[in-house]
Amino acid sequence: MQTVKAAVCREFGAPLTIEEIQLDAPGIGQVEVTLDAVAICHSDISFAEGAWGGHLPAVYGHEAAGVITATGTAAGGFQIGDTVVVTLIRACGSCPNCAGGKPTICESPADNVQGPIRTKDGTPLMQAMACGAFAEKVVVHHSQIVRIPDTLSREVACLLSCGVITGVGAAINAAGLRPGQDAVVIGAGGVGLNAIQGARIAGARRIVAVDMTQEKLDIAKSFGATHGVLASAPKPWRAAQKALGGRGADAVLVTVGAIPAYDDAPKYLGWGGKVVMIGMPHAEGMATYNPMGMSYQGQGLIGSKMGDTVIQRDIPWMVDLYEQGRLKLDELISGRWRFDQINEAIADTKTGSAKRNVIVF
Ligand SMILES: [Zn+2]
Ligand SMILES: [Zn+2]
Repeated sequence: MQTVKAAVCREFGAPLTIEEIQLDAPGIGQVEVTLDAVAICHSDISFAEGAWGGHLPAVYGHEAAGVITATGTAAGGFQIGDTVVVTLIRACGSCPNCAGGKPTICESPADNVQGPIRTKDGTPLMQAMACGAFAEKVVVHHSQIVRIPDTLSREVACLLSCGVITGVGAAINAAGLRPGQDAVVIGAGGVGLNAIQGARIAGARRIVAVDMTQEKLDIAKSFGATHGVLASAPKPWRAAQKALGGRGADAVLVTVGAIPAYDDAPKYLGWGGKVVMIGMPHAEGMATYNPMGMSYQGQGLIGSKMGDTVIQRDIPWMVDLYEQGRLKLDELISGRWRFDQINEAIADTKTGSAKRNVIVF
């Protein structure tokens, strides 16, 4: 057991407090990672605001990169000194979904309350999303980490652990886009820009970005969108259909949490197309759609968690594409902050910026 600094949430909606917390040594299958960078995700903010409930006190943060500084037994071949990305995708490896190649929907969830962290007086702390990475160090299961080149900037690498794999993976793994197909991406925020570059990497013919502001549509084009449609336009799916040469999309990727986007998403579809739901609305959100049109036109509606990513398979090729200049990562960072500025960084993220704020330790 050791003491490390962490940003603790003691009350939903209140600022995080930087405290000394107790961190267990890594146990069976676990590693300790000393973090160099952690990005702030909208999921961290939703949790900290109480949108999804959960135990308090808690430590959020789940998009991290750093270096392994201790290992438990059976740590998956990882060694002290390895540079790694830390993700929230903890997989048992043996449930039907893990065994079937879908570790993002592992059926054996971690117990995040009886995890490796406690407050200084010994009260259980929730290690949110099996990471608790708003901290100097984390102890996580080896299934959650991927080795990366130690020459790769950690500020860039941490982005790979959530927003990038979710967006790129949704286009490639979940939507299964093939060269020549058409995509609509609703929302050009952090995940949306990655869904756009995923569609580009997949070889999509046309990629229509839909967002509320022209500024975001312009950024979307720099990530590979061929067309932009303002969501505020009346019946924006008509403008999207026009951009696609008069047909509906093969895939509509919904990357936002706003319910109207879910209500409207099937309207952008062409025959045989599918909606991929990626965003995380608040827990009570409800959407409606017309099932008759979907069965008649052979359409589908699926959810995708974390881009259906298999981290050991997908993160290494994304690193390679980044190093070749074919995957944009630097452009996703809007600001760098010190750990003691975390509440300011969170406040800045809440202003709706499309990109990521990164805490650098
Ligand atoms: Zn995230
Ligand atoms: Zn599993």
